Amino acid sequence: MHRILILGGTLEARRLAERLRGRDDAAITLSLAGRTAAPAAQPVPVRIGGFGGAEGLAAYLRAERIAALIDATHPYAATISQNAARAAATAGVRLLALRRPAWQPTVGDRWTEVADVPAAVRALGSEPRRVFLALGRKELAPFTSAPQHHYLVRSVDPVDPPLGVPHASYLVARGPFAEATERELLLAHRIEALVSKNSGGEATYGKIAAARALGIEILMLRRPQLPAVPNVATVEEAAAWLDHVLASVAARGV
Ligand code: NAP
Repeated sequence: MHRILILGGTLEARRLAERLRGRDDAAITLSLAGRTAAPAAQPVPVRIGGFGGAEGLAAYLRAERIAALIDATHPYAATISQNAARAAATAGVRLLALRRPAWQPTVGDRWTEVADVPAAVRALGSEPRRVFLALGRKELAPFTSAPQHHYLVRSVDPVDPPLGVPHASYLVARGPFAEATERELLLAHRIEALVSKNSGGEATYGKIAAARALGIEILMLRRPQLPAVPNVATVEEAAAWLDHVLASVAARGV
């Protein structure tokens, strides 16, 4: 049995684990950061919590005799992806990144690309607006410097303590979100601007399509720089990569 570690926290990581779990030549472990209070159920054994930087991850790869590492984390989780690249190189473990392609703007989209959350706050301007924040609850602090806006905040876990602004309402929900319900939400809250990551994938695209249909501006956070490692865009390609890697490991008799 070859031991495989998937760095997860995304729908793709769960789907990949589901796709690989039947293999009789591989034991799959999925790693989660432990950010959400009640993580989604996973189809393979899970370990939870940070490794202690790239060195800690390299030590884990060695101690657990991991044969291949698949980084299927979120495209904005750049630190763990950098750590994975360094740790795999240090420990001599084959690494693949499973990365969702970014969404591309299309006709009717009103996107303004911004470098980061503080830049999104500045781009909202000084006039009060009704703003939907589709961001992680730990990324919201910069909006306290723009208390003139009305915010609608949606997060997987409650925002506690609430944002230090006078006008904010909160929704606790986990995707996927369909375009029709996103449209209802944007209309019900009379949203004028949306702040979003360019996450890619289907599960959270509904708000982007709904904003386009309603002519709502999106402040789109630019993707962070990710390490230059072998990468694929789909679960099937990742499974094919693993076939190839395990065949070469078996051929070397390791
Ligand atoms: P990050 O900034 O890249 O990572 C921060 C630290 O969290 C890492 O240095 C690592 O700690 C730990 N960590 C992250 N992912 C881990 C994993 N899969 N297994 C074990 N430890 C992990 O990432 P983040 O933005 O905090 O995201 C955390 C997790 O949430 C990721 O798994 C990501 O896929 C998921 N997620 C992130 C976003 C987002 O927008 N950032 C959105 C949806 C889901 P040590 O250095 O101690 O190892």
